[in-house]
Amino acid sequence: MSGHLKEEIDLVLLITGGSGFIGSALVRKLLSETDLDVINLDSMTYAGNLDSLVEVEKSKKYTHEKEDIRDTKAIARVLEKHQPTWVMHLAAESHVDRSIDDPTDFIETNITGTFNLLEASKHYFMSLDEAKKRRFRFHHISTDEVYGDLAGTNDFFTELTPYSPSSPYSASKAASDHLVRAWGRTFGLPVIITNCSNNYGPYHFPEKLIPHIILNAISGNPLPIYGDGLQIRDWLYVEDHAKALIKVVTEGEIGETYNIGGHNEKTNLEVVETICELLEELAPKKPSNVKSYRDLITFVRDRPGHDTRYAIDASKIERELGWVPEETFETGLRKTVQWYLDNRQWWERVLSGAYRLERLGE
Ligand code: NAD
Repeated sequence: MSGHLKEEIDLVLLITGGSGFIGSALVRKLLSETDLDVINLDSMTYAGNLDSLVEVEKSKKYTHEKEDIRDTKAIARVLEKHQPTWVMHLAAESHVDRSIDDPTDFIETNITGTFNLLEASKHYFMSLDEAKKRRFRFHHISTDEVYGDLAGTNDFFTELTPYSPSSPYSASKAASDHLVRAWGRTFGLPVIITNCSNNYGPYHFPEKLIPHIILNAISGNPLPIYGDGLQIRDWLYVEDHAKALIKVVTEGEIGETYNIGGHNEKTNLEVVETICELLEELAPKKPSNVKSYRDLITFVRDRPGHDTRYAIDASKIERELGWVPEETFETGLRKTVQWYLDNRQWWERVLSGAYRLERLGE
């Protein structure tokens, strides 16, 4: 944990989207390892889950503000009430398939919501005294998907790669990144942006590839893979991402962008096959219709606009801030599979709600 956080005990951190997959990992980490006050502004869409925060919800250092970033007045109220030292903005609509089914919420939350948060933060920042202004940071959390596709190349995304988003999701995140940079340059808001590769780990909503495959496999359902399964993603264990975000908000340079990645390029097919192998070892007692988990693999029609390869060059954050991921794909995936086997109650409650392991965007 960064030295800054141990020394400064009066810091207040406002996190948007703290009930989601990455946000909740960040909130759990901050509350278990620091004395910071953590305010979680989250409207609780289908992706928000308070069960992911049970271990911290009783902490006196934690407050949940159930507000929507589409509501400008609500954001201003929360900033005024809690006087945060830093804002970390994670709230977003995050699932590509949903953005293809209906992009409306992606435009409203990811673009207009970010605009609202920037405007409210700008007014709040202007109202601070000089000492507080010097400490203030607006950290925008984004994705490597803004850079588009690396099909047929050995290139990596660097912080200088031009934006070329393919899906409504990545286009909405690209737009939000541009707004954040503009608020930095035009209004002097102290902004930092991070663009991260695909995350995986505990508490991941079951519509995303890795939990989707684990839960279908142990239920004896088909394991759907888009197209030929040869799309490459660079996977990062979510707790490594949370550590990187803390590094950046405490030690990053204002106005800079940092790419965050796991150095773990895998095809979707490799990911699914590795999960099957791990389950053979960790869950050998299979449903009666399953001889081998691999037999459940089924290829389905590809998603439109599906990028072929993402790969992050994370050398800047390593060089300048000394961050490197601690988990390899093998160690992180093993922990993740074991977590889903051990935490049936968490995902059964998710599945008993609106979402029931259907594949969207087909
Ligand atoms: P998630 O979908 O799991 O969580 C999003 C959270 O935001 C939820 O708790 C939801 O309730 C909240 N939210 C949504 N709309 C809101 C609104 N209008 N007002 C207030 N709260 C709202 O997402 P995640 O996977 O944790 O991703 C967090 C951030 O990280 C996103 O900005 C995403 O673009 C980015 N990111 C994700 C990944 C990944 O692999 N998951 C990779 C790189 C970057």
